[in-house]
Amino acid sequence: MQAGGRGFLGIIAVRWSMNGLACPACEGVYIVKNGHAHIGKQRDLCRACRHRFTLNHTRTPISPETVILVDRLLSERLSHCGICRVVGFSWSWFCRHLQTLIKDCATYH
Ligand SMILES: [Zn+2]
Repeated sequence: MQAGGRGFLGIIAVRWSMNGLACPACEGVYIVKNGHAHIGKQRDLCRACRHRFTLNHTRTPISPETVILVDRLLSERLSHCGICRVVGFSWSWFCRHLQTLIKDCATYH
């Protein structure tokens, strides 16, 4: 890799870009399709820096009331996957929420 995060493939891609996409990490344009996200949007892969991304990514805001509901379901000792299914949240969001709860517990004890 050269300095600046753009390797040999990135330099080639600047000349031969066909799809008009640019990598959000390195601005390389040698982008290939890389499957779909769980919500059905196209995932892309930068061949220069191997960064995987989704263009026009939209994130649904999570209301505080729903977060309180998740905390109540956790206190009922339901399975974590079951809680995600009930409230419709992603597993990754749930794991981040658990980590914040653990950090909060560590500060209070
Ligand atoms: Zn890149």
